[in-house]
Amino acid sequence: MRTNPLTTVRNLGILAHVDAGKTTVTERILYLTGTTHKRGEVHDGTTVTDFDPQERDRGITIFAAAVSCAWAGHRINLIDTPGHVDFADEVERSLRVLDGAVAVFDAVAGVEPQSESVWRQADRHGVPRIAFVNKMDRAGADLDAAVASIRERLHPVPLVVQLPIGTEDGFTGVVDLPRMRALVWADGADAAEEGPVPGTLREEAARRRRVLEEAVAERHPGALEEFCDRETLTAATLTGALRDLTRTGDGVVVLCGSAYRNRGVEPLLDAVVAYLPSPLDVPPVRGTHDGAERERPADPAAPMAALAFKVNATPTGRLTYLRVYSGTIGKGDTVWDAGTRRTERIGRILRVRADRHDPLERAVAGDIVAVVGLKTARAGSTLCAPGAPLLLEPPGVAEPVVHVA
Ligand code: GDP
Repeated sequence: MRTNPLTTVRNLGILAHVDAGKTTVTERILYLTGTTHKRGEVHDGTTVTDFDPQERDRGITIFAAAVSCAWAGHRINLIDTPGHVDFADEVERSLRVLDGAVAVFDAVAGVEPQSESVWRQADRHGVPRIAFVNKMDRAGADLDAAVASIRERLHPVPLVVQLPIGTEDGFTGVVDLPRMRALVWADGADAAEEGPVPGTLREEAARRRRVLEEAVAERHPGALEEFCDRETLTAATLTGALRDLTRTGDGVVVLCGSAYRNRGVEPLLDAVVAYLPSPLDVPPVRGTHDGAERERPADPAAPMAALAFKVNATPTGRLTYLRVYSGTIGKGDTVWDAGTRRTERIGRILRVRADRHDPLERAVAGDIVAVVGLKTARAGSTLCAPGAPLLLEPPGVAEPVVHVA
């Protein structure tokens, strides 16, 4: 049986308090997935997602851009969510179009006020999350304290799947608790060396795996059966149960690392693929037509419905970023803007990568692409098949088009 290609798509957002390391994590993801060949450094202004000079000046991410990259046979569409509280509407819209998120925390500061507000927004949208405790190399970094602050202030059930190896400057790797394997990054190396758990950490790792197993078994009836039958849960059962708990929002997997030192980002990508949902695993999109609620499945054969979530004026033209929820959208298609009640024509469809745009003939349900040729669509516009109107978001105040050099 052919598996649905949508199962290998992850529409991912990275949520963080300003300065927690969102840009650095994004950079590392793009670097590790081969999207960029040179490591961008935040401080020298070469980062790929920070297009806007104003943004570079202020050191914050002002607008959402979506970049596609590949990891372990999956396509990850990375949707950049504004971290600054002034852009709450944009955060809301980006939360709408993504299916899962990584929340980045600072291992010294733990939960900060802004992480709380973005976390609550993600709660409202029912976005499954993984927590990444970054900056483990900093003086004063403390995973347990960061996890305690996550538990106390954000109230999820934290499922800590790693034990750090070394502290602060000596943070060199992690023990992967589901598999009980050590991942160690040598200085300057991009890839981790995998090996047995160091002798000095064996007891502590076993204790923490037990804590994880108990937390999982308590909340997951399937895992509980195996837990009762055996001494420990197998790595496969534990991973499957962690995936279910993440997708239902009953638990938040916690990982740690140092994006700056390129430590811990590969396991983070593996966790995105393993635990976060594909477009097929999330509820069908809901919209309205003539006052009645309608639902559309993430099915390429269903009538097309897509939400525009960002419009950028670029040298390539007016680039409208779309989340396609159902159906198929093709180059040259005439589509219906359910807000303005006018037709528009799709010119080119582009897969946006960090370093180039790949032209596509079509995009299907679940995908995130940019299109060229739309004249009036703005962030928040619904585009749909002319014969099957559906409004995904009520027409609101037009947001200005962002000019990108
Ligand atoms: P953003 O505001 O969340 O996008 O955060 P940035 O990625 O711009 O990072 C903020 C600052 O923290 C920058 O100076 C980064 O170089 C630094 N930084 C990011 N990740 C790490 C890390 O893992 N360890 C340390 N020590 N610094 C980091």
